[in-house]
Amino acid sequence: TLVSHISVQLSTAPEQELLCIFGTGDFGRSLGQRLLQSGYRVVYGSRRPHSCGPLPQGAQVMSHTAAAAQSASLVFVCIHREHYDFLETLAPELKGKVLVDVSNNLKKNLYPEANAEYLQRLIPGAHVVKAFNTLSAWALQNGPSDASRQVYLCGNSAEAKEAVSEVATKLGLTVLDRGSLTAARELEDFPLQLFPEWRLPLRLAASLAAAFFFYLLIRDVVYAYAEEGKDISFRIMVSLANKVFPIVSLIMLALCYLPGVIAAFLQLYRGTKYKRFPDWLDRWMLCRKQLGLLALAFASLHVLYTLIIPIRYYVRFKIAESTISKIKENKTSVFDTTLAWRADSYYSMGILGYALYVLLGITSLPSVSNALSWREFSFIQSKLGYLTLFFCTLHTYLYGGSRFLSPSTYKWYTPPGYILSLVVPSVVLVLKLLIILPCVDRTLTRIRRGWERTDPEDDTKKSKH
Ligand code: NAP
Repeated sequence: TLVSHISVQLSTAPEQELLCIFGTGDFGRSLGQRLLQSGYRVVYGSRRPHSCGPLPQGAQVMSHTAAAAQSASLVFVCIHREHYDFLETLAPELKGKVLVDVSNNLKKNLYPEANAEYLQRLIPGAHVVKAFNTLSAWALQNGPSDASRQVYLCGNSAEAKEAVSEVATKLGLTVLDRGSLTAARELEDFPLQLFPEWRLPLRLAASLAAAFFFYLLIRDVVYAYAEEGKDISFRIMVSLANKVFPIVSLIMLALCYLPGVIAAFLQLYRGTKYKRFPDWLDRWMLCRKQLGLLALAFASLHVLYTLIIPIRYYVRFKIAESTISKIKENKTSVFDTTLAWRADSYYSMGILGYALYVLLGITSLPSVSNALSWREFSFIQSKLGYLTLFFCTLHTYLYGGSRFLSPSTYKWYTPPGYILSLVVPSVVLVLKLLIILPCVDRTLTRIRRGWERTDPEDDTKKSKH
């Protein structure tokens, strides 16, 4: 009750700050409502002060000029950029005020300059601050969720930014200062991004899946039709899918670890860690988490598709048929211990690999990884990650077993899909094995602690010549 008493006192106190909002649209209304709730007074500037839609209770509406003249030093410009031009006529009223540009665009690079820079050019006498554009009107109205609690801002005047930060903090938002107004374009691009870090991994997954699907379609279905005159097209739905998914999964998992290995060899070759990696390697390293999560998704599909094998009509039919024909011919079959070992090891490796896979996926969730120290995180993602890759690769080798060398599996001189899927993981594992050899590891550790192979004097000698 004491708190409510104080807040009642505060909200009725005469020295409440007056803020101005231009534009009575969705954003202006939501922002005004939040400001009023947080104890500010709000005056709207509108083209049609008498006929604008419903506004939050307690707010005043005036013409732009009157509102600007009335208000204190802060004006939120909640108008689309296309309509900014009229603001130029208000330049005298807006001189010395802080103008908050909240605008977004429909596309990147639509205009030569950022909206906030354009606003600053229109009203050179004002202090333009870019802020709030990453929040939605909806989030403002309903109270921001964690993801939209952050307000990015930038501007050339430190005092102006301070004033805007204060308001944002009062609204319960976290402020992230991104520097001068030249950062405005970057801030305006934020809301336009659609899962940018997922784009490359998704494209890769889709292309791999499509490529292997067609490869296996030709090798299995088309081959059977062309060479044996059999129609086994029904296999597309489960058998083929259950070949494509594990193949894509294993390759993608290996691709998570390949850039790290390449980076290590690059450092060894250059003898220093102080040279930047090529851009493609940087970009590749940055999307490893997404690559891994997609690989996990494909592995999970593989697990599900494998679990239904016993209830498939085709499988039940085949088992019944072979049993019945054996009964008819009065034959018995001999238990093959080697085969039992191989099949069980193959399943076991798959299960262990998948369990570790899931563990990797869970620890990559922000809420979990935030609770881990750097050493714990890298232990799981690197050491256990390589173990996962090892189990899954072994799983695939065991699947092939002795069939590797049998010529009958090379239909139309093409290797089976799973053999192709083993290339990248095997390369990664062999390279990793080389890296952890004590002599290589020692050099790499020294390089990573800052040691350089080339003498810095060499360079100065060279440049003197
Ligand atoms: P809106 O609903 O279309 O409102 C825009 C307001 O601008 C209108 O209500 C109008 O107010 C004023 N206006 C329209 N045409 C004008 C003209 N020719 N001259 C002068 N004023 C004009 O748009 P909004 O969604 O509120 O967005 C406003 C700004 O906030 C935009 O720059 C947008 O990019 C940004 N923003 C919006 C959101 C969101 O979730 N909606 C999120 C982030 C940023 P009066 O009739 O009162 O003059």
